[in-house]
Amino acid sequence: MLPSLFISHGSPMLALEPGASGPALARLAAALPRPRAILVVSAHWESTALRVTSAAQPETWHDFGGFPPELYQVQYPAPGHPQFAADIVQLLGAAGFPAQLDPERPFDHGAWVPLSLMYPAADIPIAQLSLPSSQGPELQTRIGRALAGLRQQDVLLIGSGSITHNLGELDWHAGPEVIEPWAQDFRDWMVSRLAADDEAALHDYRQRAPAAVRNHPSDEHLLPLFFARGAGGRFKVEHSGFTLGALGMDIYSFA
Ligand code: ZN
Repeated sequence: MLPSLFISHGSPMLALEPGASGPALARLAAALPRPRAILVVSAHWESTALRVTSAAQPETWHDFGGFPPELYQVQYPAPGHPQFAADIVQLLGAAGFPAQLDPERPFDHGAWVPLSLMYPAADIPIAQLSLPSSQGPELQTRIGRALAGLRQQDVLLIGSGSITHNLGELDWHAGPEVIEPWAQDFRDWMVSRLAADDEAALHDYRQRAPAAVRNHPSDEHLLPLFFARGAGGRFKVEHSGFTLGALGMDIYSFA
C-alpha cells in the first residue's frame, strides 16, 4: 500500500535548482510502488468550497512572479484523469464533504514542481484537490481520512506546502548551514507531536507550538500536512533541512 506524503516544496526555483530536495524526492518516488494516479492538496489552491481538477490535460501554471525566464519555460505535461476526479468527488460527497469538478484549473507550482522531480517522465495522471484554507487543520485531517482508502487502490496522496513559511523573514543569500532558531524550534515541535501522534496538540498548533504565528503568518502552507497525516498511517521523516535561513524543506511519509 502506498503511504501518503507531506512535501515542503520550497521556492519555485526548486524545479531548476533541486539542491538536496530533488534527489530526496527522486529516491522516495523510486522506492514506492508506481501509483496509478496522484492526488495533490497544494497550498497554492486556496478556496472556500472543495474543488477537484478534472481537465484531461491541465496546463502547467507558472503561478509566481519575479523569477528567471527559464523557469517560465518549464512544462510538466502530466495528464489529468476526469474519471479519477469524478471518483474523488463521489468519495468526498459520500463522506459529507460536497465537492465540485473544475475542468479549467491548471496545475499550480505546489503540485508540478515537486512532481517534476519525483516523476520526471510526467506519465502518471494527476488531480488536485483545493484547500479550504480558512477552515483550519481539523477539516484537512477529516478530508485526508475520507480519502485514505485510495492508498489501497494505488493512489498516491500528497500534501504540498512547507513545514515553515514566513517569506518576509527569509534570507535569500543564506546557505543551508544557516538556520534560524525560531524556525528550527517550530519544526522540532511539529516532528515531536507527529511522532507522538498527538492530534489534539497538532490541531491546536497555533496556540501550543513555539513561534507558530511567526513560522506561519497564515497557515495555508502547513494545512496540507494535516491532509497527509489524516490520509496515512505511521509517521516517518524522509528528509529534513532548511533553505534561505528559515524555509523548512522537510518531507514526511505516513505509511
Ligand atoms: Zn508555496
